[in-house]
Amino acid sequence: MTKTAWIEQELAALKEQGLFTNIRTIGSAMGAWIEVDGKRVLNFCANNYLGLANHPRLVSAAKAAVDQYGVGPGAVRTIAGTLDLHLQLEKRLAEFKGVEAAITFQSGFNANLATIPALVGKDDVIFSDRLNHASIIDGCRLSRAKIVAYEHNDPADLRRKIAEETQYGRRLIVSDGVFSMDGDIAPLADLYTIAAEHDILLMVDDAHGEGVLGRGGRGIVDHFGLHGLVDIEVGTMSKAFGVVGGVVAGKKVIIDWLRQRGRPFLFSSAMTAPDAAACLAAVELLEESTELVERLWRNAEVFKTELKKLGFDTGHSQTPIVPVMLGEAPLAQQFSRKLFEEGVFAMAIGFPTVPQGKARIRVMNTAAHGQSDLEFGLAAFEKVGKELGVIG
Ligand SMILES: *Cc1c(COP(=O)(O)O)cnc(C)c1O
Repeated sequence: MTKTAWIEQELAALKEQGLFTNIRTIGSAMGAWIEVDGKRVLNFCANNYLGLANHPRLVSAAKAAVDQYGVGPGAVRTIAGTLDLHLQLEKRLAEFKGVEAAITFQSGFNANLATIPALVGKDDVIFSDRLNHASIIDGCRLSRAKIVAYEHNDPADLRRKIAEETQYGRRLIVSDGVFSMDGDIAPLADLYTIAAEHDILLMVDDAHGEGVLGRGGRGIVDHFGLHGLVDIEVGTMSKAFGVVGGVVAGKKVIIDWLRQRGRPFLFSSAMTAPDAAACLAAVELLEESTELVERLWRNAEVFKTELKKLGFDTGHSQTPIVPVMLGEAPLAQQFSRKLFEEGVFAMAIGFPTVPQGKARIRVMNTAAHGQSDLEFGLAAFEKVGKELGVIG
């Protein structure tokens, strides 16, 4: 046996169970249609909710930033890597979100790794939704606080779990805003009530809510009208904003603390100048018009309604994420492959990303899709669904 034989066995096992991820290569700009492994297909896989990933205004802002600042930040932000662009972006994001301050990171993943360990430590307790994103889970683990998982979107269970934990220093409640596999929304108003009753810090990761929920895409806090009441809003600029980067928004004192103690902020270089400039352009666009957000929701509504009419089980999504429930992972993979043959790119998702027996195709609707795109997609779903006996 070689040292790596076990890895070969594990990989083979994944393939056998239909759980091996085949990573496709994209040969074009992100949009409603993209070139995947050399083939032009309708794209239902990207989190590019508003179609901003290749928007002319973002592209020209990024180009202008490259001309002015070059391509690299040079050093971590605390040493020689904070550009005026980073500070402008943080100011604009704070205004957009209606909070005192904001700080940006290289990614949403890093924003969670920075924030959670900066707020709680060894003698503290974190109450975490059972289905929280991997980056929240990893941030919790890094903090060395005790992690208490409560049942998904279940405020009553959260109350019970809080009552059971009598030994603690500081406490934190953390939840995804929108859960990306089912498209359901956290009961943030209830979480706030509980957090306020017990004087516990409340943190929401709004990665799939930013640019999607609330007035003009201002996010989950706006959606619930909880301005100034949620302590920490984490977000990403890699989804609706169409670029890359993470953000934490909230009270100035917390943001000031993260500038001193957020480890990915202190020890890893910042998002680049073109990234920051493109994000700034995205915020400006969202502040000027709600048109893209409205088109996103209209498209999602059409797609969900028509899939249901065809007889598909689309779960209980409250957002533009549409899970098409298929059951076993091999069926979902086969469905995805056949869709691809029909010119539709939609990802099969299986265990461990979702529970065993809950494999699905996940359709990500965007504002970039037009009516004819939706019709093309629906026709492919109908054809493959009938071929595989999923619908009648
Ligand atoms: C996508 C996602 C992230 C990661 O964001 P990146 O900017 O891609 O690192 C973090 N949290 C949640 C809830 C997400 O959905």
